[in-house]
Amino acid sequence: MIAFWVFINKGRGNSIVQEFCPICSSKSRVIKKSRQYDFQKCDGCGVYYCSPFPRDYLSIYDDYDFNKNYRLNYYEYLPHIIHSLEKKLILMKRIFPELSFDKQIKLLDVGCGIGFYVHAAKLLGFDSYGIDIDKKSIEIAKGIGLKVELSDILDLEFRNNYFDIIKMKQVLEHLPNPSHVLRKIYYLLKKDGVLIIDVPNQDGIIPRIKILIKIKPNEYGFVQPPRHLFGYTKDSLKNILRIAGFKKITIGQSWPGDPVFYPILGQNILNKTVFKMSYILGKGSLLYAYAKSSQ
Ligand SMILES: [Zn+2]
Repeated sequence: MIAFWVFINKGRGNSIVQEFCPICSSKSRVIKKSRQYDFQKCDGCGVYYCSPFPRDYLSIYDDYDFNKNYRLNYYEYLPHIIHSLEKKLILMKRIFPELSFDKQIKLLDVGCGIGFYVHAAKLLGFDSYGIDIDKKSIEIAKGIGLKVELSDILDLEFRNNYFDIIKMKQVLEHLPNPSHVLRKIYYLLKKDGVLIIDVPNQDGIIPRIKILIKIKPNEYGFVQPPRHLFGYTKDSLKNILRIAGFKKITIGQSWPGDPVFYPILGQNILNKTVFKMSYILGKGSLLYAYAKSSQ
């Protein structure tokens, strides 16, 4: 399905307003208004998003060091990332027991930052690649000797049916064109290839509390423009993956600090407890999905 975009300039300065869902084209409802944004929920696929999208949303990444902590403690983190990747692969094989990668596995990390997972995959014997739009991060990853490229995924020139696994961690919510990116990933994957993705969980307890107590007028849960343009729930994540063409989709919830999906070193005890409790209650702050191109 080709997303139908409607752009209407409603005079909020240099910005674009979406009256229809940018993912499934259904009519959306405004659920909160702030000075800068309308926060909307799609009646069709259930995704949350801000409107207008900030036109200059990319400029925040020019001077935004995502990786400071990771960069400073690289070799302390690396064993945790290897462990995380190994566990993710074990779960992947449990979810899709029919998978059999007979040759060297080709893995792409979209939004690879300084290349942790590219490095971990290389150490596990994979043919691993990474891309990111952050110039500084890519320079660091290249310095380590990793196969990485400074690129938007939509500009990436790999042949279709190339990768066995594509990983995309905490990226989708930042993108103004998530359907196009997932469609590109769908084509880059081999017929039996798997996308492993995670995003913040808009249905988690923490974003729900933030909405209830109205602490951030210019945000709605995890919809946090100009960084997070979309907020995904289990259903809306499944819907966007289906729209992109994925056939077999498994979704679960997790939490920041989880050694499999979100290893964090030095997390304070309060955050650790709150995040873990949310997960135990079934409303963790993180959603993950394993999606396969074929049945
Ligand atoms: Zn929708």
